[in-house]
Amino acid sequence: MRLNILAFAAGIVCLQTQPELPAWEAWLVGGLLLLATNLLRRNAVTKGLAIVACIAIGFAWAAWRAEIRLGDHLGADWEGRDVEVVGVVAGLPQDFAGGSRFEFDVDGAEAGAVVPGRVMLSWYQGRRDSERTERLVVRPGERWRLTVRLKRPHGNANPGVFDYEAWLLERNIRATGYIRPQAPERLAAKVWRPGYLVERMRLAIRDDFARLLPEANYPYAGVLVALVVGDQKAIQGDLWTTFNRTGTTHLMSISGLHVTMVAALFGWLVSLGWRRVPALALRWPAQKAGLLAGCLAALGYALLAGFAVPAQRTLYMLLVAAVALLSGRIVAASRILALALLVVLLIDPWAVLAAGFWLSFGAVGALLYVGSAQVGETAGWRERVRAWGAVQWAATLASLPILLLVFQQFSLVSPLANAIAIPLVSFIVTPLALLAALIPWWPIPALAHQVLAWLMLFLDWCATWPVWLAPAPPLWAAGVAGIGVAVCLLPRGLPGRSLGILLLLPALFWPVVKPPAGRAWVTVLDVGQGLAVLVRTREHTLIYDPGPLYSAESDAGQRVVVPHLRHLGLSRIDLMMVTHRDTDHSGGAASVLSALTVDRLSSSLSDGVGDPCVAGQRWVWDGVTFEVLHPAAEDYAGPARPNHLSCVLRIEAGGRRMLLTSDIEAAAETALLQRYPDDLKADIMLVPHHGSKSSSTPDFLKAVAAPEVIVPVGYRNRFGHPKPEVLARYEALGSSLWRTDRDGAIRIDLGEAMPPPAAWRQEHRRYWQGR
Ligand SMILES: [Zn+2]
Repeated sequence: MRLNILAFAAGIVCLQTQPELPAWEAWLVGGLLLLATNLLRRNAVTKGLAIVACIAIGFAWAAWRAEIRLGDHLGADWEGRDVEVVGVVAGLPQDFAGGSRFEFDVDGAEAGAVVPGRVMLSWYQGRRDSERTERLVVRPGERWRLTVRLKRPHGNANPGVFDYEAWLLERNIRATGYIRPQAPERLAAKVWRPGYLVERMRLAIRDDFARLLPEANYPYAGVLVALVVGDQKAIQGDLWTTFNRTGTTHLMSISGLHVTMVAALFGWLVSLGWRRVPALALRWPAQKAGLLAGCLAALGYALLAGFAVPAQRTLYMLLVAAVALLSGRIVAASRILALALLVVLLIDPWAVLAAGFWLSFGAVGALLYVGSAQVGETAGWRERVRAWGAVQWAATLASLPILLLVFQQFSLVSPLANAIAIPLVSFIVTPLALLAALIPWWPIPALAHQVLAWLMLFLDWCATWPVWLAPAPPLWAAGVAGIGVAVCLLPRGLPGRSLGILLLLPALFWPVVKPPAGRAWVTVLDVGQGLAVLVRTREHTLIYDPGPLYSAESDAGQRVVVPHLRHLGLSRIDLMMVTHRDTDHSGGAASVLSALTVDRLSSSLSDGVGDPCVAGQRWVWDGVTFEVLHPAAEDYAGPARPNHLSCVLRIEAGGRRMLLTSDIEAAAETALLQRYPDDLKADIMLVPHHGSKSSSTPDFLKAVAAPEVIVPVGYRNRFGHPKPEVLARYEALGSSLWRTDRDGAIRIDLGEAMPPPAAWRQEHRRYWQGR
C-alpha cells in the first residue's frame, strides 16, 4: 500500500510539471485497466503493474482537479475592465501603507461578466487627500457591492524565484485586482457561514493582541499573532533575517509541529482529568477520550490558523493516526504517514508545489525512520536528552537536501538553535499565546512576549554564526543526498553509515556554473514594470539596475534579484550600476546592498551614490569589453531629467554586442547618434524606456539595427507600455521582439557563436500560466 501511495504522489508531481493539461480520461482508464490485472492474479509482475497504474491514476486525478479549477476563470475580455461585483470578504484583511488586501468570494457580477468565484482585491485608500477623508474598513463576512478591475493571475517568472502564480493556484485565487473609486456599498454586516465566522474570530484575536501589546513597546507581538492566527505578515521584516539565519523560520508558522504539540498537550490534560472521574473512566477509556480531545484541539487550532495548508496536513495526519488507534488496530507509523499523504493529495494535489509540504513530510518521515525506540518512553533524563538530540539530528539532516534545493542556504547553527527554540516555542510561548486568545487579559500575552524576548536574545547570538551557501543542486544531486540522509540515519552499529556523508557531498559542494572566458551571460530578469539585468563573465558579476520598488514593504531586490543570485550560488557582485533615480530601476538597491557583497557602485544619481557613470568609461573582464556610452560628463552640469542621465552600457564579447539602454529618451538617443555616428550597431538591445513613445526614434533604431530586441515591461502596466506604434518600428526593421511580461526572464549567451535568446516562460512552461 505504501509503495502504491508513493506512486500516486509521483503521478501528481509529474502532472504539476506539465506544460499543458493532458486528457485525464485516457490516463484514468489506462490506470484502472492495469490495476484490474491485480484482481486476476497477484504476483510480482501484477504488483509492479499496480505501481505503474497508481502513477497514472495520480496523474489523472491531478489533471481532473486542475481542469475544474482552471475552468473557474476570468474571461479574457474582462481583464482590465471595470466590472461591478457583489460578494463577501472571505479572509483576514492585510493592511499595507495606503490600503489593505483581502480575499473576496464573488456571489454575482454584472450581466455577461465572466468572473471567478474567489479573487484577491487591493483597496488603495487615503493615498490622495482629495479622494476620501474617511477610510472604509472591511471585515471578514461582510457583503459588499464593489466596482473592481481584475486581471488573471500573473507573477514574475524567473529561475529560482518564488512562483506567485503557483501559489495563487493552490489557494484557488483565480484573479487579482483592485477596487475602483465608484461608490462601494456595504450590503450586509454579517453573512452567516462557518468559514466567515472563523475569519471574524481571527480578526478579533488579532485586534486583541494589537490592543494589549502595542508594537512600539512589544516588538515581537507579531510573532504571537502569527502563532495564534497564522498571520505571518504581522511579523516585522527584519526578524525574518534572524529566523532564516538560524534555521528557525518553520517555528514562526503554524506548522505541523505546533498543531501536534497543542493536540498532545490538550489530549494529555483531558485524559488526566478523565482518569480522576471514575464515572467517566468506567464508561470509556481515558486514553481514547484524550485522543478524541487532542483531535478536536488540532481541528480548532487548524481553523484558527485560517486552515492553512501545513496545518491541514497535520490535522489529516493526526486524524488518520487517531482513527487507527481508536479502531484498536496496530498500524505501522509509516503506514499512517502514507495514508495522511494520500488524504492531503486527494484534497489538495497542488500541495506538492510548496516547499513546506516536502519539509514537513520529510522531517516526520525521518523521525519515523529513526525509530520509536529513541523518541518513545525513556527512563532517565540522560536518555531523554540523548533522545532529544537524536530527534534534532534526524530532522536537521532530513531537511538539508530540501533546504539546499529550495533556499540554497543551510544554517550551521540550526540544530543548536532549534534544540532550544522548539521546546520554548511549542511548550511555553504557543500555549500561552493561545490562552491569551481565549482570555484577553494583559499578563498572559505579556508573559508569552517576555519568554519570546529571551529566546530572541539567544537567536540573535546564533544569527552571528556562519550560514552554508551553495548554488541550487540539480534534482538528481538532491535525490542522492536524500539517500545519503537515509544511510546516515541507519540504526547504530550497522556498517556503512558514514558512507552516507559521501552521498551528501554533491549537493553540498555543487559548483557554481560559469560562462567560459570571452563570453557574457546576460539575464534580463522579469521584475514587472522596471528593469534588472544580471551580466556574468567567467569571474565577474555585474548588476545593471536592481529593479523596482513595489511597495513600502517590498522591492525587486529582495523578491527577485537576491533569490535569483542565491539560486546561482552568487553572493558577491563586482559592480552594481544604478542607471538613474526613478524607483522602477533603483528601488531594489538597498535590499541588494544589505543581502550581498557589492564591491563597487556606479550611478547617475547626483548625490554621490557610488561613482558617476560617464561616457568613455571602459573595462575588460575575462575577455569581455564593457563601455559606458552615456551620459557625457557635461550632462551632469545642468539640471536634467533623471531619464536623460540614464547610464547606457555596451557589452562586447567575441565581436557580438549588446546595448543596455535603460530609460533614455529622444534627446539622449540623438546625443548618442552624434557621439558615435557609425558605431552604434548591436546584435541585441534593450528597448529604451519600456517601449514608451518618448523613445525609440527611427534614426536611432536604424543606427543600432539590432536583430533581437527585448522590452522590459510589466504585465498590463498602467502606462500602456510598450506602445504599439513603437513596437511597429522595430517590426518594420525585422527585429525579433522579446518581452518580459510575456516571456519571463530572458537569457542571452553573448559571444562569437550566439544562440537565440532563451525565455523562461517557454523553457519552464506550466499548464496554469496565463489562464
Ligand atoms: Zn523605467
